[in-house]
Parts: sequence; structure tokens; C-alpha cells
Amino acid sequence: MELNLERQQQAREYARKRRQIFYIDLAIGALGVLFLLASGLDKGLRNLLQPLVWHPIPGWFPLQILIYFLILVLAYQVLTTPLTYYGFVLSHRYGLSTMTLRAWILDRLKGLALGLVLEVCLVELVYLLLALQPQTWWLSVGLLLLLFSVVMANLAPVLILPLFYKFKPLPEGELTQRLLTLAQRANTRVRGVFSMELSSKTTVANAALMGLGNTRRIVLGDTMLDRYTPDEIEVVLAHELGHHVHADIWKLIVTQSVLTLGGLYLANVVLHQVVEAHTYQSLTDVALLPLLFVLMGVFGLVVMPIGNAISRAIEYQADEYALQATKKVDAFKSAMTRLANQNLADIEPSPLIEFLFHDHPSIGRRLKHADAFATHHG
Ligand SMILES: [Zn+2]
Repeated sequence: MELNLERQQQAREYARKRRQIFYIDLAIGALGVLFLLASGLDKGLRNLLQPLVWHPIPGWFPLQILIYFLILVLAYQVLTTPLTYYGFVLSHRYGLSTMTLRAWILDRLKGLALGLVLEVCLVELVYLLLALQPQTWWLSVGLLLLLFSVVMANLAPVLILPLFYKFKPLPEGELTQRLLTLAQRANTRVRGVFSMELSSKTTVANAALMGLGNTRRIVLGDTMLDRYTPDEIEVVLAHELGHHVHADIWKLIVTQSVLTLGGLYLANVVLHQVVEAHTYQSLTDVALLPLLFVLMGVFGLVVMPIGNAISRAIEYQADEYALQATKKVDAFKSAMTRLANQNLADIEPSPLIEFLFHDHPSIGRRLKHADAFATHHG
């Protein structure tokens, strides 16, 4: 498998345009919130909603919170819709999307609805706990989010993802047999292997380990199954098996929870300060929402490279596992090259870009890893 240099050129362009979308999106969010804070509209909106006095618990005004939150989210959606649409156009221009505009809009509406329901629940819960436990709310929220991510990791492959993709068990055959052999040698059991109909939306190939406990499974995109050799797919399966053997889903959940808890604690410190300075009426003032978004956004940006660094280390270990388990260095390298060509992945992003944004080592690094493995074991 040869690296397609023309595709590499396109990959660099595409990645650059994607990053521009990310920066503009960030700027719109930041300017929007700054405008709210500077103009005093954050408090104006609260004053407007103050007639909604229903409060089942002292200090917790669920209707005010709901409407305030919906206004913020809808305003953000309206402002960023042209940008999101441009992202859709771009993915077509580079031949990565196979979706019609209609299907794309439908998917976005589904995603938005799902996100809104979960976010509204979270925001209401945060305010409820702020009212009940003004000092320790952040700890309770952090623990509940940890519980929630465990439940979601469990349910996502059977409840959430089927809303967007069709899944089929991989038929008994050479590939499942190879995976069973790998799993037996690792003294573990894989609960299932599924193919995922990625081709209905994208030309990009992907594979993943998903689920926890009863729902744990390896998922292969049909965009990979139809054009990779059995050896290449075996190496990919071994990589996913590596994630399972290393309990990586748990590692990611714990990492995310620790980072989130840190962020919530910092938010707690800031909230107490602004309330003591009489900038806001109380800890449960709904006008604090824009400030909370700023804190979440800034914190998210700061910890993104930390999360990505941990993820890259985990991926490196899964590659190492795949190489050890299969010893198929050539198949590993050709699978990586095929991925770079097919997914329009820049094999050598600048170190800074990789550090900030990439949750997998660059394909260039993964190829070098395979070469180093071959030198030590060949
Ligand atoms: Zn992986």
C-alpha cells in the first residue's frame, strides 16, 4: 500500500479548514458570552424571567433555568448554523460525506434534541444541588456525572448509536475466527463483533471498542470491511482487543471524571467569589449561567491537551498490543497507510497541532512505531 501524496496535500488543506471552523465557532461563543456579560443582558434576561416564581425547593427555580438555558442554546445554534453548514459542504467537497442535505439536517436535529434533553437535566441538577448543598454541590455533581458516564458507556452502543447507525453482527467466518483466536490467546472473551453501516454517512473507515459489561463489543465500519485485507483487519481487531485487555474505557472515564471534578471545584470557587462580591443575587441566580459557560469553556480548552495526551498514550499501547499479538508489521503498516489515504488524515501534522487536537498519535508516528517494533523483534 502506497501513501497517496495528492491525498496528503488535500488532507493538510482539509485539516486546516476544519481548524478554522473550530476557531470561528469558539470566537462566536466567546464574543456572544462576553457581549451578554458586558451589556448586562445576562441580568436583564433574568429580570424578565423573574415572574416565573414556581420553586418546589427554596432557591431552585426550574422554569427560569429552563427558559434561560433554552434562549442561550438556541441563540448559539442560530449564530453557528451557517458555520456548521459550511462544515457539511466542506466534507462533501473533499469526498468524505455521503449524506444528502436532508439526511444531514435530520441527523443534526436528532443530535440537538438528544443533547438538549441531557443538558437541560444537567443544568437543572447543578442548580438544584447549588440550592441544597452550596458548599459541596461540585462534589455531588462530579460523582453523579461519573455515574452517568458509566451508565452511558454501557447504554450508548445499544440505545444511542442505533439512533444514527445500523448495526449488524459480523457473520461467522474467517474474521470472527481470527478474533476468537486472538481473544483466546489473551485469555479474554469478546462479547460481540458488529459491523456498523458508516457508508450511509461517510467514506471514512473506523473501528472501535464500545460498551461496558454486557454491552461490550468491537465495532468495525463497513467502510473498512469492504476494502481491507483480512490481515489488515486482524491487526485492527487486535488493536481494539488491546483496548479491552487494558480496560481503556474505564481509564478514559476515570480521567474525564477527575478533570471534570477539577473544573467543577474551580467553578465553585469563582461562583462563591462573584456572589460574595454582590455581582449576582445568590449562588442559584440563573443569571450566572453565561458565566458558568465561560468557566466551562475555558476549562475545557485548558484540559483538552491533557485528555488528548492521555488518549494518545492509550492508543500507542493498543498499537503495541496489536503488534505483539499478531506480529504482522506489514499488515499494520498497510492498514495505517490505507487509513491515511481513505480518511484524508495528515500523516505528519505539526507537533503543536498534534499536541493540542489529536487524540490518536499521527499516522507517521504509528508507522515509525511499527518500524521500531520490527527492528526489535525481527
Ligand atoms: Zn484505538
